[in-house]
Amino acid sequence: MSKRLVTVIGVSLIAIFTLVYFLSPSSSPFDDKEVFSEESLAEETLDDTPLFKFGIPVDLFELKEGRIKRNQTFADILLPYNVSRQDIFNMDKISRDVFSVRSLVVNKKYTIFYNSDSTKKASYFVYEPNDLEYVVYQLVDSLGVFRESRDVEIVERTMAGVISETLDHSIRAEGGSPALVNAMADIFGWQIDPKTLRKGDWFKIIYEDRLVEGKSVGIGKIISAQFNHIKNDYMAYGYDMGDGHEYFDESGESVQKAFLRYPVAFTRISSQYNPNRYLKMYGRYKPHLGTDFAASKNTPIKAAADGVIVARGFTRPNGNYIKIKHNGTYTTGYLHMNRFGKFKLGQRVKKGQTIGYVGSTGSSTGNHLCFRFWKRGKQVDFLKEKLPAEKPLPAGELVRFDALMSLMDKRLEDIPNTWSDKSVSASNE
Ligand SMILES: [Zn+2]
Repeated sequence: MSKRLVTVIGVSLIAIFTLVYFLSPSSSPFDDKEVFSEESLAEETLDDTPLFKFGIPVDLFELKEGRIKRNQTFADILLPYNVSRQDIFNMDKISRDVFSVRSLVVNKKYTIFYNSDSTKKASYFVYEPNDLEYVVYQLVDSLGVFRESRDVEIVERTMAGVISETLDHSIRAEGGSPALVNAMADIFGWQIDPKTLRKGDWFKIIYEDRLVEGKSVGIGKIISAQFNHIKNDYMAYGYDMGDGHEYFDESGESVQKAFLRYPVAFTRISSQYNPNRYLKMYGRYKPHLGTDFAASKNTPIKAAADGVIVARGFTRPNGNYIKIKHNGTYTTGYLHMNRFGKFKLGQRVKKGQTIGYVGSTGSSTGNHLCFRFWKRGKQVDFLKEKLPAEKPLPAGELVRFDALMSLMDKRLEDIPNTWSDKSVSASNE
């Protein structure tokens, strides 16, 4: 990238000197014309306009940028640019293996590179399905389709913020994305109930930002974070033991609680989570949003993690069921119970405590537990979810972890806090 820039600047400089030489009064035949000063030439030729876009030399073409409109097809866009129906037909066929011209989505960006002469014929059509990729449809010489990935650059960023309303509000006020809000909620959700956040609580984050051409396309990992909640510090240091990033506090304990691998001792998984389940008997799709564990009647059903019972009752489809809210991120459901355990609605339960017994109440054809799993209000496949591990750091990791922790503490401390003013003004309200 910088090599290319150096080349561009070098070539431009040679061009300038050549031009200046020929335009200089002594040798130029344009004596009576306006003579460009070296400075104005430098400004014109040394600007940072890219010479290539999507790998295509821009100087050779006129560019038309747009967004796909509703019901607009590849042909709709390119027929006005004198691409033949035959080429469009052929492109439809050859594009299928790479990125079909039928997969254009409304509102996505495209760029047409067309000839500047009167034919206005398109030479390339570039479609951007997302921030990370683009697809080049070559319409000159021979037809071709190329799907390219953009380089993603990862930079570390820091953020400090204070709670005035919600975590979401504060992170966005500091320019953070919803993804960063979710990542913070996932890390601290087991220790801090979002509902108990108070004005003046504050946080500091070191995190990765993913950039494409200088523009953020999402976050990477949170590297470390600190949450000061009711004057207590909650620390989360990201640490990788070869099995992905996990978060530990200052004593090496996991900050995220694990779930039981299975909430019941079962004989087999009789039906998996499947949003596209087709029921032959009914001749239609009926999504199955849970995991069915076949088990014998009255097998104890355990709370998958610590939480509060937020629903407990009977409905026609669910039978006897219980719903447990674990934190701001996770909720679980347990259906078709034969009977309940001792815990009542609103009561707090610990991971592994028995909340009920397997049965076949409600719409059920046999004894099983239908286990439901919500992440941020949306049902997801528990078996596929990457859930936090709860093991503390092994002793052998402590030396390396301590070194990382001192480094992170220093870095977190160095993030300037700007909220002392804000909290003063907040207290004046
Ligand atoms: Zn089920």
